[in-house]
Amino acid sequence: MTSTREQRVDIAIIGGGLVGASLGCALARRIEQMGLSMAVIEAAPLDRQLAEPWQPSFDARASAIACGSARHFETLGVWHAMAEMAAPIRTIHVSERGRLGATRMRAAELGVEALGYVIPNAWMGRVLHGRLGELPLAWHCPATVEEIEPLAEGHRLRLSDGGELQAGLTVLADGGRSGLKERLGIESRERPYDQVALIASVEVSRPHGGVAYERFTPEGPIALLPLQGQAMELVWTHERGQEERRLALSDGDFLAELQRAFGDRAGHFRRVGRRNAYPLSLITARETVRPGLAVLGNAAHSLHPVAGQGFNLALRGVMDLVAAIEAGSERDEWLGSPAVLQDFEARRDSDRHDVIRFSDGLIRLFGLDNPLLSHARAAGLMGLNLVGPLRRTLARRAMGLER
Ligand SMILES: Cc1cc2nc3c(=O)[nH]c(=O)nc-3n(C[C@H](O)[C@H](O)[C@H](O)COP(=O)(O)OP(=O)(O)OC[C@H]3O[C@@H](n4cnc5c(N)ncnc54)[C@H](O)[C@@H]3O)c2cc1C
Repeated sequence: MTSTREQRVDIAIIGGGLVGASLGCALARRIEQMGLSMAVIEAAPLDRQLAEPWQPSFDARASAIACGSARHFETLGVWHAMAEMAAPIRTIHVSERGRLGATRMRAAELGVEALGYVIPNAWMGRVLHGRLGELPLAWHCPATVEEIEPLAEGHRLRLSDGGELQAGLTVLADGGRSGLKERLGIESRERPYDQVALIASVEVSRPHGGVAYERFTPEGPIALLPLQGQAMELVWTHERGQEERRLALSDGDFLAELQRAFGDRAGHFRRVGRRNAYPLSLITARETVRPGLAVLGNAAHSLHPVAGQGFNLALRGVMDLVAAIEAGSERDEWLGSPAVLQDFEARRDSDRHDVIRFSDGLIRLFGLDNPLLSHARAAGLMGLNLVGPLRRTLARRAMGLER
């Protein structure tokens, strides 16, 4: 029975982060032209952040966005705004400390303008929320879901702001941190990597020229991604236990340690912003669909950031869910019907499996400190440099141009 306070919506998105907000934008046409009703429930207060003028921050976290994702943003009508703060990746340089092997993937060689783009996460959020703000949707923020109850067709949600929703399709895009997945009895596989990613912006002494570096060291991979200007985003992965010490170092000592670990191929590190450490695990939900429910983004899969694939994979999930909804509506299916969600699952399965295997495989291959393996890895990297077609295939996959 529907209570008087209960609002019926076709779709409720739990979590207005990068993935939930992208899904909202991807459904804009259905909302504006076909009357689809949508509610977004977001725990963090976002309104104030949107009201303030944009201040580029040296400390902002940024993500590598594949060309395929840029195309999806174009389809969503937000790429033009995203591109204002995007730094193109013209070359990817992969190397291993102490080995000769190095491989370069160049945009020009592949006939594309860029291999990908690096965009501050806060800017992406701002652009997506700006678009969401133009849509007639029920925006519950700040609010969380207190109770979730499966119904014959959909779910009933009771919110912390007093709201009650009955949704045909509920999308869990809460980053996996709300406990809702567990309350619904959806189990996850979790394998800690015993590694931590230390993230910071660094300034380099010479123009980066759009080069993204991935350097494998015995301690773990170091990625440097080009940002606008002379700054680069550092993702320094190392064994758990080192982070406290590295976070506590003075800026000068930290920069010197980074220089020793990375070498000088990017120039001299001159300045570092706020440092944050993220413990790393591979987490995958055992179920990503149920009647009336889909799990997206980090709630479905949280990957090692070495290959910069997490959000790119999630955005393809967003596009596939919308495609399954569109196909279902042509067959007069309700949004959360098993047929729609099985169609979505069928579209996702191999991509999700391949990307998880690819990034997990990189960690296993480069994370082991076995001298024989090191030679094999170096040979592999050099081989990669020689074998053009294979390298091109890898590059096209990393760019999101091929599955
Ligand atoms: C160090 C690091 C570097 C990375 N670099 C890259 C990269 O270069 N490229 C790439 O593609 N990916 C990268 N990723 C992965 C990428 O950050 C994630 O895939 C992406 O942020 C997932 O977005 P999400 O919306 O699923 O989750 P989140 O970003 O966690 O968003 C979840 C949202 O849900 C809200 N929420 C939580 N609980 C509730 C609740 N109970 N009710 C309502 N709302 C709730 C939160 O406030 C938040 O806004 C990186 C990840 C890490 C850790």
